Amino acid sequence: MKIKALLIYLYLEIRKTVMKKYIFQIISFFSLCLIACSQKESEKADMVLNNAIVYTVNINQPNAEAVAVKDGKIIFTGSNEDVKKYIDDKTEVIDCKGQFVMPGFIEGHGHIHGLGSSLVNLNLMHVKNWDEIVAMVADAVKKAKPGDWIIGRGWHQEKWNPAPAKNFLGYPYHEELDKVSPNNPVLLSHASGHSSYVNAKAMELAGINKDTKNPDGGEIVKDKSGVIVGVLAETAQRLVGKAYGEWVNKQSEAEQKNKWIESIKLAEEECLKKGVTSFQDAGSSFEQVQGFKELADQQKLNIRHWLMVRDNNTSLRNHANVFPIINEGNGFLTVKAVKVSLDGALGSYGAWLLEPYSDRAGWVGESTFNIDSLKAIADFCWKNNLQLCVHAIGDRANREVINIYAEQIAIGKIKDHRWRVEHAQHVNPAEIPRFAEWKVIASMQGIHCTSDGPFVPKRLGDKRSEEGAYVWQSFLKAGVVVNNGTDVPVEDVDPIANFYSTVTRKMKDGKEFYPAQKMTREQAIYSYTMANAFAAFQEKEKGSIEAGKYADFVILSNNLISCKEEEIKNTKVVMTIVGGKVKYKQ
Ligand SMILES: [Zn+2]
Repeated sequence: MKIKALLIYLYLEIRKTVMKKYIFQIISFFSLCLIACSQKESEKADMVLNNAIVYTVNINQPNAEAVAVKDGKIIFTGSNEDVKKYIDDKTEVIDCKGQFVMPGFIEGHGHIHGLGSSLVNLNLMHVKNWDEIVAMVADAVKKAKPGDWIIGRGWHQEKWNPAPAKNFLGYPYHEELDKVSPNNPVLLSHASGHSSYVNAKAMELAGINKDTKNPDGGEIVKDKSGVIVGVLAETAQRLVGKAYGEWVNKQSEAEQKNKWIESIKLAEEECLKKGVTSFQDAGSSFEQVQGFKELADQQKLNIRHWLMVRDNNTSLRNHANVFPIINEGNGFLTVKAVKVSLDGALGSYGAWLLEPYSDRAGWVGESTFNIDSLKAIADFCWKNNLQLCVHAIGDRANREVINIYAEQIAIGKIKDHRWRVEHAQHVNPAEIPRFAEWKVIASMQGIHCTSDGPFVPKRLGDKRSEEGAYVWQSFLKAGVVVNNGTDVPVEDVDPIANFYSTVTRKMKDGKEFYPAQKMTREQAIYSYTMANAFAAFQEKEKGSIEAGKYADFVILSNNLISCKEEEIKNTKVVMTIVGGKVKYKQ
């Protein structure tokens, strides 16, 4: 017994010494085994895209043939050969058959609620003429209950062919709407949102008659003999908007919320169909933010949303605790930006200019927001580390915004603020280096250039148009980040049409709008992916196809880098993938 006990004692002593001496080696050995086992497990992808022309937007590896995805994120980009090791029998393999794969488009400035309601209501963006609008209203009336409002958006009288026979300044009279809709009020907004068409029933509910005075900043359009045409411009729209709001408020809260959810779902479907995987909304209320938060928490969002909150100074301060919301619901909702509009649009002479309009003597447009309130909001955003995004179209508005930004930024402390100017459409050349100096982002829309192009030289004259209108290359050369979007529902959310405008600057008649400012195809894709991600502090999560980022892709029928210019417009979205899930398939 004594010998056995001695042997056990000796064995334990030796083991202790060995353990002590080699403890780190032993632990490392077992950890390595563990890592190796788990790596083998995680190396298998949920999804693989192969046989593709992958344009990654990653300068370190611009092109690839294949991508592997796990848990909604990219784990590999490279060759068809090397991707094989990520495939097992559970992997969904998508053979891209030589098609073009790029990061999902990020809409850099749109209105998600506007897009949603354009899909629930009448969409008048693509109508050929006034008769078509009347027919659409007649059809909607058949499906509606008496008293229901018929709502639509997107008409533009200058696009109608033929022009209405009986008209005033191109606007038809409201009688035809009255004939098809005697008991249902009709409210149809212009594409720009700066005016609305209404019928007699809507005017009756709003208390508008021939004696009603124009409100400040608005006009009830009347012909030379004082007859109301049916168009309400600018603030005059609020008269009918109030009556419409009263009707909406008669519906229960649940009913209104369900309608809103339905409209967001339709908006997301429209985006996915067009290859948009992320959306930067230029103006949500706190109530809408709350609605989005609930959808994010229930994992019910299908594209990634980044919202700018639009509200007044007092309300922002009262709701300061709402900010920031970062990547809620697995990266589907972020809210840490504030939107303010400082002027209107150029088409309706609302852009605020340094010098008068070339086609309206003495008129320079006007600001639509109090400068002191804007300064107070800038201070609020700075102190709460929020991004400020100010709509500025005219060169005066752009100058005022840069002045306010510079004053605020000069206070210091935050190095990386990424404050943005939404549109930055017409700038004085002196402002361009100031955008660079203060690291302000020019949040522009390629397609506005070709849509507005035909009337821009009329409004601004040749010199101002050339030096300052949609000057993408001037901004880029100065080192300014230029992002891209459609301002939907002002334009269609379609990135392909926008990309075409951005690289060609070709207007409807085929003429190019000051072509020196065109973007290259590489620049245009960058503006729609990485630049938009950067403009939202999301460049580490999206905007390029590289390991660690969200698996958000679009497969297209044409190679946007190399296809013929005229082929760009025919490009189809074959598939849209968000977080490694196929969300749209042609
Ligand atoms: Zn907008």
